[in-house]
Amino acid sequence: MALVTAETRPLVLNTNQPGNVHWNTLYEISDIVPVSGIYRCEGCGHEITSNHPDRFPPQNKHQHPNNSKVLWRLVVMTQTKG
Ligand SMILES: [Zn+2]
Repeated sequence: MALVTAETRPLVLNTNQPGNVHWNTLYEISDIVPVSGIYRCEGCGHEITSNHPDRFPPQNKHQHPNNSKVLWRLVVMTQTKG
């Protein structure tokens, strides 16, 4: 789980507002990263950082021993510029 401190805690958003669909979407291997941030695998809890508009890691970079599907969920959105 992504960790923060009291001094660095992020803003907490209402994920049900229009424009926040990326918070409620699960992304598959090689999908285009919709927003830069930290993503958690729904299957095993592994976390990655990914930048928009890169793609999520391919199958050979993250696999589960039982071959269950890899689905990424946004847990922290970063406001990366550059
Ligand atoms: Zn996983």
